Amino acid sequence: MRKRKKKIKKQKKQRGKVKAVQIPAKLLTPVGHFLQGQLKKLEKRKKDIEEEDPFKDTSRVLDNASPDTDAAEQFGHARASAIKEEIDRKIIQTKKALTRVKLGKYGVCEDCGKMIDTDRLMVYPEATLCAKCQAKKEK
Ligand SMILES: [Zn+2]
Repeated sequence: MRKRKKKIKKQKKQRGKVKAVQIPAKLLTPVGHFLQGQLKKLEKRKKDIEEEDPFKDTSRVLDNASPDTDAAEQFGHARASAIKEEIDRKIIQTKKALTRVKLGKYGVCEDCGKMIDTDRLMVYPEATLCAKCQAKKEK
C-alpha cells in the first residue's frame, strides 16, 4: 500500500478586503476617445437642433404668422425642445462617464461599486450605474 502524500498548498488568504474592480488602462484609453467623440457629436447635434427651433428665429414676424404657421412652429419648437433635452441628458451623462474614465473607474457602478455588465456598456457606453441601480434610481 502506498500512502499518498497530500500536498497542501499554502494559499494566501485574501482577507476581507474587496479587490477594487477596475478596467485596465489599456481599455480605458479607447473608451475615453470614444466618449469624447460622442460628446463632440452630441454638442454638434445640439447646435443643429437649436438652429432648427423656429422660436430661435429672431427674424420671425409675430404679427404675420397665420394659424397654420403658428401651429407648425409650436410643433417644431416642442419637437426641438424634446430632442434638445434628450441630448442634454446624454451630454451630462457622457461627461460623467468621461470623468469615470479619468478616475480609472469606468465600468464600475457609482452606487454599488460592482462592474457594470459589458452588454449594458455596449448599448449605453455612457452608463455610470449598473442596470439594478439605474432601475432603483428611476423608480
Ligand atoms: Zn450598481
